[in-house]
Amino acid sequence: MYYRSINEVLKAQYGCKVYKLALDGGFTCPNRDGTLGTRGCIFCGGDGSGAFAAAGPDVAAQLAAAKARVAAKGGKKFIAYFQSFTSTYGPVERLRSLYEAAMAPDDVVALSVATRPDCLPEPVLDLLEELNWKKPVWVELGLQTIHEATAQYIRRGWELPVFDRAVAELKRRGVTVIVHVILGLPGETREQILETVDYVGRSGADGVKFQLLHVLDDTDLYVDYVAGKFRTLELEEYAALLADCVRHTPPQMVIHRLTGDGYKKHLAAPLWSGDKKRTLNTINQYFQDHDVIQGQK
Ligand code: SF4
Repeated sequence: MYYRSINEVLKAQYGCKVYKLALDGGFTCPNRDGTLGTRGCIFCGGDGSGAFAAAGPDVAAQLAAAKARVAAKGGKKFIAYFQSFTSTYGPVERLRSLYEAAMAPDDVVALSVATRPDCLPEPVLDLLEELNWKKPVWVELGLQTIHEATAQYIRRGWELPVFDRAVAELKRRGVTVIVHVILGLPGETREQILETVDYVGRSGADGVKFQLLHVLDDTDLYVDYVAGKFRTLELEEYAALLADCVRHTPPQMVIHRLTGDGYKKHLAAPLWSGDKKRTLNTINQYFQDHDVIQGQK
């Protein structure tokens, strides 16, 4: 075992592979609805960060459709995952009805909610705490980077202390926290990326998701990419960078992802990331060849 993967952790806990079912709660985002901006984060496609989530607000129907897609693989236990846009951005009673519907089936073992740290007001934190007593609740925070210049370039819309407060409040309530980090953001050096990983390691969060920067052709990032303002990572470069990130991740932290799923319909770069099997094989081979072990650094 080179790293503490979420698949292994869940298998040990539940005795089988646990599948994540992506749901779309019909949310928007302060970076899109005019509250902070209208064009979204610079890399965020028009379909939302959860480009794979099924459309429509009927949670039960979405769960059934998502389960049917993994039925052939023998999925028996699931995590309901509100993935699209900012999934805590709405009136608390609406959130309650969506989350409770998603958690209701016996074969759903946990609820996961992707959001931004500035969209966790007190009533929402209290709701997450209450639901966490019924089944485990995970909150996935899109940090991406700790570096302010990059945060401004990507139009993230909040500063680092907001993240620190959100992690502290969620952990105080016993909620599991997973942090998303993007590798390969324009202008960031290897050292800066590792500073972000070290920060996440010290943050008190339980897990981390590493995502490769994708350039989608319906984003403002694409305009800068086409203008030659930055380049994307090659596969071998990504494997080496990821290896360093895993070495810098504390041994107890769960790694939820080693790369992101680019939305193939809009993927402009790097095109190699569209071949998920080759990508994961290359990463695994690199980890083996270089004796990569989580927490080595
Ligand atoms: S905060 Fe998330 S959903 Fe909103 S624009 Fe940024 S990436 Fe997209």
